[in-house]
Amino acid sequence: MKYFSSRGGMEPQDFSEILLEGLAPDGGLAVPEFYPQVPLSVLESWKSLNYGELAFEVLKAYATDIPEADLKALTTKTYTKAVYGTAEITPLRELFDGIKVLELSNGPTLAFKDMAMQLLGNLFEYQLARTNRELNILGATSGDTGSAAEYAMRGKKGVRVFMLSPLGKMSAFQRAQMYSLQDPNIFNIAVEGLFDDCQDVVKAVSEDLEYKARQKIGTVNSINWGRISAQVVYYFNAYLRTAEKIGDPVSFAVPSGNFGNVLAGHIARQMGLPIRKLIVATNENNVLDEFFKTGVYRPRKSAETYITSSPSMDISKASNFERFVYDLLGRDPKALKALWQDLAKEGQFDLSQDARFKRVEETFGFQSGCSNHQNRLDTIREVYSRTGTLIDTHTADAVKVARELVEPGVPMVVLETALAVKFAETIEEATGQTPPVPAAFEGIEKLPQRVVEMPVSVDQVKAFIAVNTGL
Ligand SMILES: *Cc1c(COP(=O)(O)O)cnc(C)c1O
Repeated sequence: MKYFSSRGGMEPQDFSEILLEGLAPDGGLAVPEFYPQVPLSVLESWKSLNYGELAFEVLKAYATDIPEADLKALTTKTYTKAVYGTAEITPLRELFDGIKVLELSNGPTLAFKDMAMQLLGNLFEYQLARTNRELNILGATSGDTGSAAEYAMRGKKGVRVFMLSPLGKMSAFQRAQMYSLQDPNIFNIAVEGLFDDCQDVVKAVSEDLEYKARQKIGTVNSINWGRISAQVVYYFNAYLRTAEKIGDPVSFAVPSGNFGNVLAGHIARQMGLPIRKLIVATNENNVLDEFFKTGVYRPRKSAETYITSSPSMDISKASNFERFVYDLLGRDPKALKALWQDLAKEGQFDLSQDARFKRVEETFGFQSGCSNHQNRLDTIREVYSRTGTLIDTHTADAVKVARELVEPGVPMVVLETALAVKFAETIEEATGQTPPVPAAFEGIEKLPQRVVEMPVSVDQVKAFIAVNTGL
């Protein structure tokens, strides 16, 4: 399997070469040359696999330059009860009205990003040892990516993590999770700005190619192809455990921000998984909902980005969206590049009058919806009163939209992207209940924190990294 840039400006590369990257040199995103097909007969045979075995089957079609025995060892080592709390790894639980919840948040940071990031930690360590290299990961997070990356990389040989987060914009629990890590290879940088400012700094540092090479900078943000491919696995797993008969349709509702999670669902569907609908659920930051409803993609400015009670979805542009649009435009890099040039010039693009926009739903199965703070409170309260379980604010956004779009006879799986405890304030506001704190996180908010504060400054971030790498 070779990887190309969505904008056409990259020599074909292998999985291991794009593993540490994601962004192509021409500013596009790495995309696979094709989607490997999984016939129903093969799908049927996957029913008996455990999660690690299934991950191996899905990933070996993408990571073709990693010897199969090594890949198998990596997936086996990653997807364990010790890391994810249950042997099922991603259990399903019944909600109501044909809706189920897929638990993706039982890993070390209690959010779905652990599903891919734990594998990435092991893949990085393997790849760096194999090539005798070291790597300094630079990333931006609005909460969950950063902590998932840090928990995946802490103590790993040959890796340091420099993680930018928006000062004062994360929950106390999220801050504690990240900033309380004392591992010497983990560096937290709190930036006086929003998540998008952090992302812009990371982008600017990465565009200084000389600096980037000298400092051996890599990324694990949501455009990382290793993460996307690892996320494809749980769609297969959920499908195999939901469909009564292999071939039956199943729909998914996904709390969405940077479009990484639902993109993985799109890829699973392109591989032949019988997914009926892929439902993109957003919060008040409805860039994606607007596109799926109207055909207009209009990224916002930082100043137009709301701070909401589902903060991990507070984005102004959806960084993985380009990969879907590439498919929508018939995998034509010239067309994609032209559209993204319009976007850069006009600040938006409009496909509403383009025949291809119809394919978004008809061919690709996408629908969308959005929710606001009141909707979240109502949904969390209703789920609690009807099932006795607490769901987090992001999952609530998706449950709200799933209920609007669920179809009779088609199971709807809502992806649970975090546990309620991470957003306790809103859960208390909705239900009066304090979500239980898992034993491993008891008292975490009182631990000493290791973090430096900085203005939105590319130069200061560069200097800080250089001092700490000694490179
Ligand atoms: C990251 C995150 C999301 C958004 O996922 P994307 O892949 O960026 O669309 C939703 N919910 C939670 C809890 C997250 O951490």
